[in-house]
Order: sequence, then structure tokens, then C-alpha cells
Amino acid sequence: MNEIARTSGVSESFRKGHAARSGVLRAVWLCAILISGAWAVRGQSNISDSGPAEKPKEKVSLLVEGGTVVTMDPARRVIEDGAIAVRGDTIVAVGSRAELEAHYEPAQRVSAQGRLVMPGLVNAHAHAAMTLLRGIADDVTLQDWLNNYIFPAEKRNVTEAFVADGTRLGVLEMMRGGITTYVDMYYFEDAVARVTKAAGMRAILGETLIDFPAPDNKTMPEALAYTEKYLQHWKGDPLITAAVAPHSIYTTSEQTLRSAAALARRYHAPLVIHVAETKKELDDSLAKNHATPVGYLDHIGFLGPDVIAAHCIWVNSADIKLFAEHHTGCVNNPSSNMLLASGVMPVGALLAGGVAVGLGTDGPAGSNNDMDLMREMDLAAKIQKVTKMDPRALTAQQALEMATIGGAHAIHMDSEIGSLEPGKKADLIVLDLDAPHAVPLYHLYAQIVYSLTESDVRTVVIGGRIVMQDRHVLTLDQAAIVAAAKVWGQRVQKSLAMPPSGSHN
Ligand SMILES: [Zn+2]
Repeated sequence: MNEIARTSGVSESFRKGHAARSGVLRAVWLCAILISGAWAVRGQSNISDSGPAEKPKEKVSLLVEGGTVVTMDPARRVIEDGAIAVRGDTIVAVGSRAELEAHYEPAQRVSAQGRLVMPGLVNAHAHAAMTLLRGIADDVTLQDWLNNYIFPAEKRNVTEAFVADGTRLGVLEMMRGGITTYVDMYYFEDAVARVTKAAGMRAILGETLIDFPAPDNKTMPEALAYTEKYLQHWKGDPLITAAVAPHSIYTTSEQTLRSAAALARRYHAPLVIHVAETKKELDDSLAKNHATPVGYLDHIGFLGPDVIAAHCIWVNSADIKLFAEHHTGCVNNPSSNMLLASGVMPVGALLAGGVAVGLGTDGPAGSNNDMDLMREMDLAAKIQKVTKMDPRALTAQQALEMATIGGAHAIHMDSEIGSLEPGKKADLIVLDLDAPHAVPLYHLYAQIVYSLTESDVRTVVIGGRIVMQDRHVLTLDQAAIVAAAKVWGQRVQKSLAMPPSGSHN
């Protein structure tokens, strides 16, 4: 009624002032007034101002808004003042803040104004529970480290409770450093999966198979039975992918490798393994198998598009071709390779050969004493530069790719994670850009890789769930985890008759 009265009034005044105009023109004008009046009323009843009508906004669970969005999508788009809309565990839109604000009504918001938004980092190789053995022995040879420290410490201390507490510590450390997916291999992997799932972290978790009595399973038949049950238990979980992880070619027999591969393939589970890590592994394989480690794995039918191979240092051009043909992913672990003096991964040759290369922390005991992938990106680029005596050998962008979309590809999850694109899982991180080491900002990728640190990670979202907000992890009790780690440290020291901490180097 109001609408009709108002428009009639306007048309009346029009008629008085412009009596000479033709009836046709009057009719057109009247129509225009009627339409604009209708819009105005609709506008008033809708939101606040009297502009054009707005479509009802689509409801989403989360809107990350503002800031610079580094998508790592195929075009490597970077969106200034961008936004990401999330429904459930999936990204539904990536675009400008204005555009997404106009379309979506979120239940929850994360403000990223003045900050950086990027895909969550992918730690493609680690042993999370070994956080409790962090720093147990360093600056020693691998054999000394294994035989005099790690194996005795594991034998005397590694129980399911140890693994659960160690994994909690590892996941806490990784989350605080912006890691949203990790690939693990250790013992009692079912406990690793339970802890990881409870923390809201995404992971591929491999139960380790090794040809000597392990802390969880004393014989290979027991280990295979445990692993099969474990694979069955986690099948279809949205966060956890259970995997099979034969340790390496030098700690497992051909039979174990074949059984592991057969079991994994029966359940469409990934295979995680250390490959061509040291010169000794290569030399021993050439002597024993008359083939490189990669050639040997190919020969026994182990390589495939489900294999995640850690290290891949001592590889030749034929090995690289085999990796590419089988779509096997490789993982670079620069800290570990430097600390153990294992060598340098030929990243350039692998990438040029079409092999997907990810980045991992390895460790965090002996082979790297932290789980900081921001640091690994920095080292990954620098070790290639100094080895090749060429600062162009690996760029900041390539290092960031290894930690995000490249890593996702290497672990065969690139259709789900690794970049910020509609349809992918909502795994993303927000970083501060105002620390003294973060300003001024000229080149984004270089800043991320060479200047920012894990302490710049402010907020972490995994599968659409905010797991860390303003540096406060919401899914884990940090004080309790740190206290438990200290108690385990004392127990391990006693078990090895080590002097109290601080009194030895
Ligand atoms: Zn490892």
C-alpha cells in the first residue's frame, strides 16, 4: 500500500510540472518510478541502506577475511585484501574480501587484516613420538647414535604411553609452526593416530615394520597382524590415513618389503619408507643386490604411485626416471641430511625429471632436533645454492612449493590439500607480518622462506576447524604436555645412566 501511495504522489507532481509531455513518455517514467520504488522498499526490508536488492547471503561455517592470500593454486594467485569461505571441512570460495563478504554469511570469522593467509604446511616425513628423545645424543656418527643411544633408549622406554605423550608433544610443536598435515613412521601407530585425531591434525601415519623385535611387536607376523588391524580400524577417517612403513631396505628383508607392499595395496594404503639416505646404503645395495636402492625396490615391485620415499639422496638419473615412471613421491629433509652428514638431495634433477618433491623435518631426535618446517624451507633453498655454488639453484618460491602443494603431491594428497582452492580441504594458516624481522616487505615468497619464522604463525585451521587461535592451541593442553615431556626426559636419562641434564655436552 505504501509503495503505491508513494509512487502515485511522485507521478502526480510530474504531471503538474510537465503537462506538455506525451502520454508515452509519461508511461515510461511511471514505470521507472514504480520499479525504483519497489527496489527501495525491498532494500529497506532487507539490510540497512536503500540500494539495489541483495540476494540472501549463503551460509558458511567460516570466513577468513582480509590480508594477503597466497593461494599456491596452479596460477599461483596472490590476492590482496582477500578472503576464504569454508563450509564444513571444505573451501567453497577464494576471492576478494568485498566479493566474499557480499556473498557469504559466516557462523564464525577469522580476521587476517594486515596478515598473510596461506595453505597449511605439509611435513612429509617425521617421527613425532621421538620428540621425547630430542637431543639425547648429537654430533656423533649414525652408528654410534643408533647403537649406543636410540636403540637402548627405545628398548627401555618406548611403550604405548611414551608414544602417545611424545606424539602429543610433536603435534603441539608442529601445529604451532603452521603444519596442518604430517607423515609419520613409528611404533604403536594406532596410539599416534588416536592422539593426532584428537588434536584435529591431518596425517598419514605409517606403522613401522623392521626386521628386529620392535617396541610394539616382537615378530614380523605379529607386526603384520597389528598393521592390518590398524589399517582396518582407520579406513575412511576424514583426518587420518593409516599407512604401512617398512623402515628401509637395510633393516628389512625382501620378504618383509614384499609383504608390506602387498598388505598396503590390499587396503589402498600408502607405503612410507626411507630410501637412498646414505652412501653406505647405496654401496651395500650395489654389493648385495647388484642394484641401487631404487633399482632394487623397482625390481621387487615395491615402487608405485602410493609410495612416499624419504631422503632420495643417493640417486642417479636411472633412479630418477624410475621414480617418475612409478609416480613415487620423494621427501627432502635438509636439517636431517646436514646433521647426520648424509648428503644433499639432488632436488633440481628430481624436479626436472618430473618427480614430486616434498619437505620434511625428519627427527626430531638426532636427525633434527625440531619439527619446524619454516626453518626447513629456508635450509632447503640455501643448501641447494651452496652445493651448486649458484644462488638460483632453488628459489624461495620452489622451497614454499615443497612445503605446500609440492609436498601434497609427493604424499599423493594434492587433490585434497596443499593449496587454497574451492573444493579442497580447509587447511590454512594465518601469519603475522609485523614482527621486526618481517618488515619491510618487498617480495612475498622470499619473506616467507628467508625471514618469517614459526613464531609468526598466529592461527591454524585444519579441515575448517580452528585448532590454534592467536597462538593458543585449542585442542591440546600445552602445560600438561610440556610437564609430561620433562618427566619422560628424566626417566630416559635414568634408563641410560646418563648424567643429569646440564652436566654434559
Ligand atoms: Zn626418518
